[in-house]
Amino acid sequence: MHKASFHTLVIGSGAAGLACACRLHEGGIESVALLTEGLHCGTSINTGSDKQTYYKLGLSGETPDSPVLLARTLFEGGSADGDVAFAEAACSARAFLKLVELGVPFPRDRYGSYPGYRTDHDPVGRATSTGPYTSQAMCRAWQTELRRRQLQVLEGRRVVSLLVQEGRVLGARAWNEAEQSWEVYAAQNVVYAVGGPGALYRSSVYPQLQTGGIGPALRAGALAQSLPESQFGMASTKFRWNVSGSYMQVVPRMISRAADGLSDEREFLRDYLPDPGELYSLLFLKGYQWPFDVSRARSGSSQIDLWVYEETVLKGRRVFLDYRVEPSGFSLERLSAEALDYLKRSGIRSELHRTPLERLRQLNPAAIELYANNGIELAAEPLEIAVSFQHNNGGLSGNLWWESPALSHFFPIGEANGSHGVRRPGGSALNAGQVGALRAAEYIGARYRAEENLEPLFEEALKADAPRWEKFSAQSDAGWEDERRELQERMSRVAAHIRDEELLREAIPAAWGQLERIERRGGRLQSLINLDLALTQAVYLEAMLYQSVSGVGSRGSAQLRREGKILPEDEAFRGRVLESRYLGGRQSEHRWRPVRPLPSGESWFESAWADFEAGKIYQKENGTV
Ligand SMILES: Cc1cc2nc3c(=O)[nH]c(=O)nc-3n(C[C@H](O)[C@H](O)[C@H](O)COP(=O)(O)OP(=O)(O)OC[C@H]3O[C@@H](n4cnc5c(N)ncnc54)[C@H](O)[C@@H]3O)c2cc1C
Repeated sequence: MHKASFHTLVIGSGAAGLACACRLHEGGIESVALLTEGLHCGTSINTGSDKQTYYKLGLSGETPDSPVLLARTLFEGGSADGDVAFAEAACSARAFLKLVELGVPFPRDRYGSYPGYRTDHDPVGRATSTGPYTSQAMCRAWQTELRRRQLQVLEGRRVVSLLVQEGRVLGARAWNEAEQSWEVYAAQNVVYAVGGPGALYRSSVYPQLQTGGIGPALRAGALAQSLPESQFGMASTKFRWNVSGSYMQVVPRMISRAADGLSDEREFLRDYLPDPGELYSLLFLKGYQWPFDVSRARSGSSQIDLWVYEETVLKGRRVFLDYRVEPSGFSLERLSAEALDYLKRSGIRSELHRTPLERLRQLNPAAIELYANNGIELAAEPLEIAVSFQHNNGGLSGNLWWESPALSHFFPIGEANGSHGVRRPGGSALNAGQVGALRAAEYIGARYRAEENLEPLFEEALKADAPRWEKFSAQSDAGWEDERRELQERMSRVAAHIRDEELLREAIPAAWGQLERIERRGGRLQSLINLDLALTQAVYLEAMLYQSVSGVGSRGSAQLRREGKILPEDEAFRGRVLESRYLGGRQSEHRWRPVRPLPSGESWFESAWADFEAGKIYQKENGTV
């Protein structure tokens, strides 16, 4: 079996992992390796949206901003820790300006300031963007830096297990798909940047090349938090893309058809809301109220997501956006003042633009081109959509240096880190990924630089880990598609934006049963991914049920029902964080703890200077370093 050793192993090559590998090297750690399924894999390099947003500290205009104000916004989303929110805010400018220095073309004005716009859950306009592919531009810039630094990249590897002894991570085991063989890596530190669990749901807008990797960390005993908190919203299914922004602002005709996708076409929205003025004004709002949000589900724009869910999941029909024909009863003049004003200012005129497509061509021609480049002509065919899984706000726990509280020398960063809580401002995922990379690299450089002799511990960990995997990979991958479909369908049915306590309860034994079956059957790459997803599924479902039974109610992007009734939110839980841990077998444990408070943010310069010089900033809460 191939074996190699590095000072620090970074797993995952999205915007977060790439940034961390370069930052470690910049900080003087020479022996860094980036292990990944592929530089072309993951969410960051493959995804985007109408205007993909990067949320940062305000750096322009007259609106005052500061780390304290930004931290407050991040913290007030609920169930987010204050110390981490503060670090995300305090390091935001540094992380953003590094990207600027690396050449990411964030727009600036003639004086050199970076104007912002308002995104969801953002009180002041801190958002910026390079267009539809911001995270891809970030990856490209970091990849150039990675090459310049000549860092070692191990592609075509899938980590399936973390090697652990005495509460410390010592390395990882990976499957090499090209060689069809196992490899092990010993490391003083492991940075875990594996992204979100993209393949967990059938309706998902994650790219196909992001399946997720939280399973091995759960199996190794890492602590997780806020697992039930995710974002769902409407997205096209053939080519996965959020239908936000101008795709909704031009008010397309929304239709449903029978399961064959062809027959029995209906404009179903008017069954739910007959008044066309009211209905199409709501549809317009979906442009910038993209995620399903329970606070907008009673009378606001998120009702549309509920109606689409009813058509697709409950009635088994298929829903499409048709840009070729006006929706029935549509007229510009019937829209709300807000929608009408926006469209008129954008040059839309009823006598000139007689279809949604003509309006889209006027508002954002690149939006039409984007689908054409992906084989879909909006002028020729309707676009199939579904309410889809888009982001996991929860994930693995980390302290204010992004180190796992349960596994030392293990740093979950990027989307794998569950720092966001209930609601996050749009774009804060990218900020958190860059800041986490910076913080983990700084801490490793400052505190975990010295090489320890870990060989005996590593060998012990390996001995305990090896037998299950040799047995597993002795089998073929046959039947993996059925297993994947089963778990994805289960998650989309019971654990998406509509959750019913009873259905969650029923799904859990089936999920554990599936995990055991996959473990028994064994297989190669796809079965290893299924094993990861199946464990993830079971622990997530348990966390969701625990949250429901605790009485949290509906919040964020998940509406909770019990015996058909929608449960209101108990806002007291916004002050607590749900922690989860896998215990082996069919056991997981979940508990609420109070959020860590927001620091005051006031530091007296002279004492901050002294603490910095003495390295006290790296001190742990119990005073140790
Ligand atoms: C459609 C869409 C639109 C979005 N829009 C925005 C937005 O506007 N603003 C915003 O802030 N966020 C947005 N997000 C979220 C954001 O893009 C992601 O959270 C972020 O890109 C994740 O970056 P990452 O580096 O953590 O992980 P990723 O970019 O997903 O990278 C994960 C890496 O880990 C590798 N990997 C995974 N498992 C393993 C394993 N077991 N072994 C080896 N390698 C592994 C993958 O191959 C990949 O290289 C959006 C997400 C989607 C899906």
